Amino acid sequence: MKSIKDIPWECGKGWWPMIEKIASAIDSFNAAHPDSPVEVTQIKQKFGGLRIYHYNAPEDIRQLIDEAIEASWQTCERCGSMVGVTTDHKGFRFTLCPDCRSENNPRVLLKHRIVIRRKRTINC
Ligand SMILES: [Zn+2]
Repeated sequence: MKSIKDIPWECGKGWWPMIEKIASAIDSFNAAHPDSPVEVTQIKQKFGGLRIYHYNAPEDIRQLIDEAIEASWQTCERCGSMVGVTTDHKGFRFTLCPDCRSENNPRVLLKHRIVIRRKRTINC
């Protein structure tokens, strides 16, 4: 069975810590429930917010996912800062802090973000 760690995380690294937390919870759940595992089919940024498509998640994991999605609107997708984060930028929907916003041309950001595959191992 595919783990959440095996599918592409199609968003900036600023959101990865939130996804790692969810990945740990799902891996623990799946280890304990091999007959009814949680499956995550897609992780991506859409309209400036985090999207995680999943099924078979129990209430507590659904809640973790909902909290991360909610938090993504206040978290810079590029660096993870929660200071002064806003979403609209010249017609592009990016959730960024002022520093990242001033450094990055949104078009460049978009091009580089399309698919970021995880290469690290999670220690938890
Ligand atoms: Zn930032």
